[in-house]
Order: sequence, then structure tokens, then C-alpha cells
Amino acid sequence: MPILEIFSQGEEIVTGQTLDTNAAWLSEQAVQLGFTVARHTAVGDKLGDLVELLKEIAERADCCLCTGGLGPTSDDLTAEAVAEAFGLPLEFDEIAYRQIQSYFSNRKRPMPETNRKQALLPQGSIRLDNDWGTAPGFAVPAGRCWFAFMPGVPSEMRHIFLERVKPLLNERFILNPSRLVTIKTLGIGESDIQQRLGEVKMPERVQLGFRAGVDEVQTKLLFPADYPEKDMTALTADMTARLGDFVFGIDGLNEETGNLAAAVDKLMRAAGKTLAVIETASQGLLAAKCLGYAWLHSAAYEQSLSALGERLGVAVEMSDLAKTGELLAKALQNQNPADFVLIQLYDGSPAQFQNKDQTIILYNTLLNRESFQQNRHNLGGPAGRKQNQAALLGLDLLRRHLQNRKI
Ligand code: ATP
Ligand code: MG
Repeated sequence: MPILEIFSQGEEIVTGQTLDTNAAWLSEQAVQLGFTVARHTAVGDKLGDLVELLKEIAERADCCLCTGGLGPTSDDLTAEAVAEAFGLPLEFDEIAYRQIQSYFSNRKRPMPETNRKQALLPQGSIRLDNDWGTAPGFAVPAGRCWFAFMPGVPSEMRHIFLERVKPLLNERFILNPSRLVTIKTLGIGESDIQQRLGEVKMPERVQLGFRAGVDEVQTKLLFPADYPEKDMTALTADMTARLGDFVFGIDGLNEETGNLAAAVDKLMRAAGKTLAVIETASQGLLAAKCLGYAWLHSAAYEQSLSALGERLGVAVEMSDLAKTGELLAKALQNQNPADFVLIQLYDGSPAQFQNKDQTIILYNTLLNRESFQQNRHNLGGPAGRKQNQAALLGLDLLRRHLQNRKI
């Protein structure tokens, strides 16, 4: 497999002010494409260091993906370093210049003279057009290595990589892409997942990994290119079954699920149902996660339980929030034409909500004309985490109901 390196340029990376997410994202892409990723290096704003590193990489790697340092300012040195390292003088690229000009004129802004610098590309390089920002990237072979230089801004970099660099990699290298399958869960921690999967006999050639994010925990399986499709499907199915009702999506097999809200969106559209929701703990975040989804009939936020009781004409029983949730949901259903109503309540004071060391108890009640579902969760951590978990658990109740899963 060809050897690939990743090189990130910028003083803010080496000093720790910016986390090098470009390298992480590019590595994942490169591994899946079938490269062996050998090293990540970050270099600051010293021309000499850049030149030296480029020369080393040209000797030892087959491919190098570089980000950052393509901007108009004096600390953006990448093109200059390439010119010096490989003896490729910078040449003015007419097309690049016109693209930079039109970037500014489309935004009705004058183009600063310093941006002219971004149209200077090393001799013999291929321009990587940037339709998402000002600086074009460029690709150039040197020594045994093929280098691709992309802007540092992550969104621009991703576009340029996927639409410009990736097709060129497929042309230039013989690659056997591996397959990555991601099983996505909510409401179960990494250690519980590992325990449930502990008895599965992992084939040696399959790499198992976990990633815990704020919105989901991912269990990742990386299969080599020649791994039989039916074995891959069987192993994924076995693992998915062991994780049971916690699984809300699988990426990498047939279609991509996206996040939990996207999974619920698909289910709600298929069911042709609508939802009305009243949030408390998630404070509008549940509705925000469903932005633009037509099945969200209405959404409201109530700060206090007593205000919510008044709104719906229900006497609130603090000692029995499960029952209160049920009464509120019924009252909302009587006033609202949506197929489903979702009411969220929690037991806990504002101080408990704010305190990261204290928990609140969340009650989600989901009602439609035929069924009644309720779940209860303890939420801990900082206020923002409680808010996010509350939003996700509300959506997950809907997901479980629509998929006939255990509540
Ligand atoms: P610009 O035209 O914006 O100057 P550039 O190609 O010169 O683009 P940099 O100046 O190096 O890129 O970085 C621009 C911004 O992109 C940085 O301020 C930082 O927020 C982000 N960035 C740069 N490199 C990385 C990286 N490796 N990982 C994540 N973000 C990055
Ligand atoms: Mg810059």
C-alpha cells in the first residue's frame, strides 16, 4: 500500500490554539482510500522548517496531504517553501487570479492587493480550484512523492479534497479501498458497549474502534478491501443485534443514516405523521435539531412547570411527574391536531440543572391516538450536556416508538 503523510502548517497548530482536525479528517479519508498513513507533522511559520520537512517527505512518502498557509498574509508561506525546497519558481497563474478577483466581486468587496499573492503557484503544479473560498490549492510531484496543498479552513479543505484531490489520487495510485462500517448508538456508554461486544470473536483482519461524541457513540469496524461482503454483513448484523435497541443507525453498508435527527426524519416521513412538542430541559434544542423538517407541526418551550400546567389547564403534581406528564400530553393532544405529542418534564431545581456535579430526572412522554410511551433518565454533567441529552432522548423515544423498539 502506498505510504502517505499529513502535514499541517500554522503557528496556531503547533502552539495548541487550533486543534488539528484537518489531519484527523484527512487520515480517516486516506485510510479508507487504501493508503498507509505513516506520519502527521505540524510546522509553524518558519520558512526553513517548512523547506526541510518538504524535502524529507519527498524522499520517504508516496503521497503527502498538506493544509494551511495558502492565505494572503506574510505568515502564509507554503507556496514559497515549495518553490525553495524543490527549485520550482513561483509563477503567476492568470486563471487563479481571475477566480480570486471574482470571489471578491461576487461579494461586492474590493480585492486587497495582498490577495494577488495567492495566484502565485510553483512551476509545474496543477491548480486545485477553490469554489468555496479565495485561495486555490495546488498539487505537485517532487522526489518520489505527490503533494497536494489545500487551504487550512476546514470546510474549504474538505470540499477541495473530496472534489479535486480524491479523483486525482484514484488516477495516480493503485488503491484497494478498505470499508468502514459505523454502528451508531445513543444512551449506552462505551464501556457497556465493549462489554456487550466482548464475546464476539473478532476476525484478525478487522479493526474495531470506538468514538464517543456528544451526540452519539460510534462503534467502528474497518474491513480490508478483499474482505467478503457476506462476512462483513454478518459481523455487522451480529454486533448490531448485541447492541439492540440502542442502535439508531449504521453507516457504510447501504446508505448513510446521518445523525439521530436525520434518522427520525426518515422514519417520520415514511410514517407520514406529524409531531407537536413542548420542551423544558432541552430549551428549544429539540426543535432546533429538527429545523426544516415539515413533520414538526409545532414546538414550544416552557421555562417552568407551573407555567406549562397553566398553559394546558392541568394541575401539576411535583410528587408524581410521570402522571403529570401523562395528563399534560393528553391535554396537549386535545388542543393540537398533530399525530404525536411529546412532553418533556424534569425533576430538579435551576441550581441542580446548572451544577455539573448534580443530576436531574428527565421524563419524556409520547402520545398518539393509539399508544402511550414514557421514559425516565437521569441526566448529569454541565448544563449544556443536560440540555443536549434531553433533546436527543426525546427524539430517541420517538425513534424507538416508530421502530417498535423497547422504550
Ligand atoms: P486563509 O486564506 O484563511 O489564510 P490558509 O490556507 O492560509 O487560509 P491558515 O491561515 O493556515 O489557512 O488557516 C486558516 C484557518 O483555518 C485557521 O485560523 C484555523 O482556524 C483553520 N485551520 C488551519 N489549519 C487547520 C487544521 N490543521 N485543523 C483545523 N483547522 C485549521
Ligand atoms: Mg492564512
